Amino acid sequence: MLVFKLWFLGVTLACLGSCQSQEPFDTKETRFLLGTIVEFTVFHHDEDLALYAIQQAVAEMQNVEHQFTVHGDAANSVQAFNRASVGQKVFLDIEVEQLLQQSISIHHQTHGAFDPTLGNLIQKWGFSSDNKPSKPLDLNTIRSALAASGVEYVQRDEKYTWSKKKEDLNLDFGAIAKGLAIDKGVESLKHAGIKHAIINAGGDMRILGNHGGKPWKVGIRHPRRTKALGWLPVSDDVSIVTSGDYERYFMYEGNRYHHIIDPSTGLPSSVSMSVTVSAPTATIADALSTAMFILGFEKGLPLIENLVGVEALWVDAKQKVHMSSGMQSWVNIE
Ligand code: AMP
Ligand code: MG
Repeated sequence: MLVFKLWFLGVTLACLGSCQSQEPFDTKETRFLLGTIVEFTVFHHDEDLALYAIQQAVAEMQNVEHQFTVHGDAANSVQAFNRASVGQKVFLDIEVEQLLQQSISIHHQTHGAFDPTLGNLIQKWGFSSDNKPSKPLDLNTIRSALAASGVEYVQRDEKYTWSKKKEDLNLDFGAIAKGLAIDKGVESLKHAGIKHAIINAGGDMRILGNHGGKPWKVGIRHPRRTKALGWLPVSDDVSIVTSGDYERYFMYEGNRYHHIIDPSTGLPSSVSMSVTVSAPTATIADALSTAMFILGFEKGLPLIENLVGVEALWVDAKQKVHMSSGMQSWVNIE
């Protein structure tokens, strides 16, 4: 009898142990990548697998950063293109060619608001440089830097081989490459067998699956207050990206100068304080959040309403909130 009781106890304990380890839980890791803090949350019962998947995702994201950064001395094909002279043929990485082609089509789709050829001007504004600017550029500098931009001056000579038709034209993928990095990171999580996770790169995120059968809760930052503006219940596979005038900026004579540049003026765009976009991929959400910031609610809304699986929320220059129809029935305003 005693033997049976001990056996029974043993089986019960073993079951308890294994039953417990089958319960999924959050494994969290943070890294500094792409100039921001990236938080990985993986909901899975096997911590070793979760950590392995995160490590794979980090490597993918570092790779994207290395391929696209225009800062530092990364010997990448974007910097080779930027240094090249007019007509000089430059071999672009396959991922760079693909993102450039996608960027050019988003440029046309957004009536020019999104422009991957603004690199020269963006560099002169210097919001991403080590020495943060404290004074606006003078209008002559803006005019000449704007003259060195335009997607029509970027030419595909043959597969992967591109040249510029304007001197000093520089590419800048700062408004879209973070999204691509998030997408590549999520692809490697999926490849490792992860079904429920979030990659959050400084507020730009892609969300997978759910959190124990319940939707993940995603906060939307208010551009001027510390308290969140609202939150979204999110499940399956959705990306949510915000562009805001509070991310990189300085104040000069009472005016705010920030890093999102209106290609039609060369100045920081002043119609929005922040725009949050949800889309099927972080690449698209990232590019569109920047474009919608510049277009503003009135010009941007018809475009968003025409795109399947894309929603947007604008906080305009007067802090008034505007939303696409799908966002209105989805968001919880606090
Ligand atoms: P985001 O935070 O995604 O809105 O991207 C802002 C970054 O994108 C800036 O730091 C610039 O590198 C770049 N950028 C600024 N204005 C534009 C624009 N009109 N089109 C494309 N990229 C831009
Ligand atoms: Mg963006």
